[in-house]
Amino acid sequence: ITLLGLESSCDDTAAAVVRDGPGGPATLSSVVRGQAALHAGFGGVVPELAARAHAEVLDHCVEAALEEAGVALADVDGIAVTAGPGLIGGVLSGVMCAKGLAAATGLPLIGVNHLAGHALTPRLTDGLAFPYLMLLVSGGHCQLLTVEAHDRFRRLGGTIDDAPGEAFDKGARLLGLPQPGGPAIEAAAQGGDAERFAFPRPLLDRPDCDLSFSGLKTALLRARDALVAGQGGLTGRDQADLAASFQAAIRDVLAEKTRRAIRVYLETNPPRPALAVAGGVAANGPIRAALTALCAEAGVAFVAPPPALCTDNAAMIAWAGLERLRAGQTDDMTLAARPRWPLDETADAMLGSGR
Ligand code: ATP
Ligand code: FE
Repeated sequence: ITLLGLESSCDDTAAAVVRDGPGGPATLSSVVRGQAALHAGFGGVVPELAARAHAEVLDHCVEAALEEAGVALADVDGIAVTAGPGLIGGVLSGVMCAKGLAAATGLPLIGVNHLAGHALTPRLTDGLAFPYLMLLVSGGHCQLLTVEAHDRFRRLGGTIDDAPGEAFDKGARLLGLPQPGGPAIEAAAQGGDAERFAFPRPLLDRPDCDLSFSGLKTALLRARDALVAGQGGLTGRDQADLAASFQAAIRDVLAEKTRRAIRVYLETNPPRPALAVAGGVAANGPIRAALTALCAEAGVAFVAPPPALCTDNAAMIAWAGLERLRAGQTDDMTLAARPRWPLDETADAMLGSGR
């Protein structure tokens, strides 16, 4: 069974082909076209520009993905597309493109929740079995979930304000480092003294799995301003120490709340307990190391997909679509684009969706 996937919910346009067969799941191609240059002068993603650019390059991405996979559209079993959550114009561009392809070929159309795409990625990359615990940490989201089936997620906690990727990006701006901020802070923190600045570890006094990152940003701002006021600027040493202390605070909060989530998850007696991560922040070395240690201690397997499949891509959308198609879940031409779409439909709001 082979699926074509389309993704256009934020500032990456992507298309991919995945297949599941006797040899297990395989990513046959994964094409991602970023829009960083388009939005560079605006201090963020401009929704109208993003939607137009998606509409312009989606066809090229689809062609490139099919060609790279060595697959013709006629050989595909279904067309999966991100139907939300995300910037509505971009999501609409993808949904309209997918409807056009489905109408022209008669293939099934499958709408996919972008977050389900992230959360199911470890099944594509590592064949992970349900139920597993997922820490989803990206530029726009931060959630701890148990993944019980391809369409059943239980939210254990999440950020009550910023997402960690957002914190890294804003923190980097405060330190005069380039975007995206995560890799820039990770690099600047190399050799820095993580103990020099005692940044807060918010909400650790609360027993739940909720997280908070906005106070940390304020603390970084204050520490920076104190140094600048005292000595007229930041030395390289200061920058490294600030970056290291900031990264350590995010690492500690993620690790401690994940520790609690593991406890809740283990109460359900999963047969093969595992923690998986997804999202761009999952690429961070010290955070991966902390989670690896945590899992070893708890007797839980740790699964981290390769960074290119942690950040936004269409292979994860094609895979989530494949799981839906296999379960007989397809959509028709009434498929709608949804700006908000909580994974756990019973949650009253997906806090910390960030945009
Ligand atoms: P979402 O998936 O929630 O819609 P997004 O698509 O913007 O948001 P991703 O592409 O998953 O998010 O991740 C991008 C984020 O990951 C950025 O905020 C970036 O700073 C962060 N990031 C990337 N690499 C690293 C790293 N090595 N360390 C920390 N953060 C990182
Ligand atoms: Fe994403």
